[in-house]
Amino acid sequence: MMSSLFIDGQWMEGRGDVLVSTDPSSGTIVWEGGAATSADVELAYAAARRAFSSWAMTPVEERIAILRRYVEILTELEGTLPELISREVGKVLWETRTEIGAMKGKVELSINAYAERTGHKVTETAFGQSELVHRPHGVMAVMGPFNFPGHLPNGHIVPALLAGNTIVFKPSELAPATGEALVRAMERAGLPAGVLNLVQGGRDTGAALLDGDLDGVLFTGSATTGTFIHQKFGGRPEVMLALEMGGNNPLIAWDFSDVEAAADIAAQSAYLTSGQRCTCARRLIVPEGKVGDDLVDAVIARASGIKIGAWDEADVFMGSVVNAQSARNAVAFQEKLEQAGGKPLKKLEILDKSDAFVSAGVIDMTDVSSPIDEELFGPFLQVYRVPDFDTAIASANWTKFGLAGGLISDSEALWKKAHIEMKAGILNFNRPTAGASSALPFGGPGVSGNHRPSAWYAADYCAWPQASQISFTPERMGAQGFPK
Ligand code: NAD
Repeated sequence: MMSSLFIDGQWMEGRGDVLVSTDPSSGTIVWEGGAATSADVELAYAAARRAFSSWAMTPVEERIAILRRYVEILTELEGTLPELISREVGKVLWETRTEIGAMKGKVELSINAYAERTGHKVTETAFGQSELVHRPHGVMAVMGPFNFPGHLPNGHIVPALLAGNTIVFKPSELAPATGEALVRAMERAGLPAGVLNLVQGGRDTGAALLDGDLDGVLFTGSATTGTFIHQKFGGRPEVMLALEMGGNNPLIAWDFSDVEAAADIAAQSAYLTSGQRCTCARRLIVPEGKVGDDLVDAVIARASGIKIGAWDEADVFMGSVVNAQSARNAVAFQEKLEQAGGKPLKKLEILDKSDAFVSAGVIDMTDVSSPIDEELFGPFLQVYRVPDFDTAIASANWTKFGLAGGLISDSEALWKKAHIEMKAGILNFNRPTAGASSALPFGGPGVSGNHRPSAWYAADYCAWPQASQISFTPERMGAQGFPK
């Protein structure tokens, strides 16, 4: 019998429609199983609710020991898990190997962040002491995206478990096998029954998840879905929402002497993971004239030269996108920009390898009077040529998002200005926009999230503070005008 769900420590088959995940580069089936129905999701919440108080009361050292065993199990899986992720979402193997590294690293980082951000503090006072502790919220729904199907759910699950929460986790419907592998590793690490429950499925299961008996939603995905969740929980301040959403990320190149280095940074920012990172640069802002032209030409040369292939081919930089629909979306977005007046400099095209492979594209948007402030989650870069640095910054900030951004320049003075004026939660200088540090907070203003950044600050949304003033004996309370 298949076993797609993990509820209360038991593997069981989802009673909904069959969900299938396929390798986008070959079309072979990677995983299939029954999606969770609303009744299955309810069972998962009931199990998480039952498990909560005992897990919350488990000493943190024991919770840490289980998470460290989880790291050992991930180490054992280093030979197989990267391939599973690659087959499921099309990312090349060198990238998915680093994804396992990030998943492992998250445990020690979370332990340190838990202590630093949500630690236990006792201060001596005149009356005795004041004490600060942090308590878990309860049952958290975790919803993940497809692009880092291990690392990003892991980035919510590890700190949430560490803080003493229990979880109902729904992986992306495009990456159920990876979600299952993560949960099986946690099971082997010795998590008690009901602490982490897995439900598989798409929108319907997601909707049931949001209707469940929960205390928080830890979400990573698109701004559309995140905004929908935010609206759904409007008027329910008791529910913790941590929403990690997308971006329309600008990269300014100004006053630089090494055009080849600048082009490397710009092209890697745009095309890493086939443009399927939330931090990928979507807009390149350059000076009008020869300096900008030379850089754009060098970026086009890289877009044309990038080796594209299946996840297991040698020396490939870009794998497929996640599926054929995503490839068609990229082409449709390019057409929309062309209709708005954009001039293609190098077309993004569906390749004949399979219908999920696209080439890297570049479009000139300089003369477009009404650009489109949307995130296209694919290998596609828009170029804007501007007359001066102030206009470059204004152009960079022209977006409702605020996730990532960057400056390429020889000038530290320009960096100082950009650092103050650019609106991006992840803002890099002479480094690609993609490839963030887990030891720093991750998130940004605008519609990129709800001011609950993840990574180093994930500890903050996994626990609430409890502040106490403590006197070990009751004492008489004198006050002006108060009877003695
Ligand atoms: P998505 O929003 O389509 O899906 C994310 C999750 O939400 C999935 O589990 C999906 O099943 C669920 N979902 C979607 N619509 C739903 C609905 N109406 N009701 C309930 N559940 C629903 O995102 P995706 O396409 O998987 O991922 C790509 C997006 O994620 C991009 O926008 C990218 O920028 C963003 N992202 C953000 C970060 C970050 O940390 N800020 C990191 C990676 C990806």
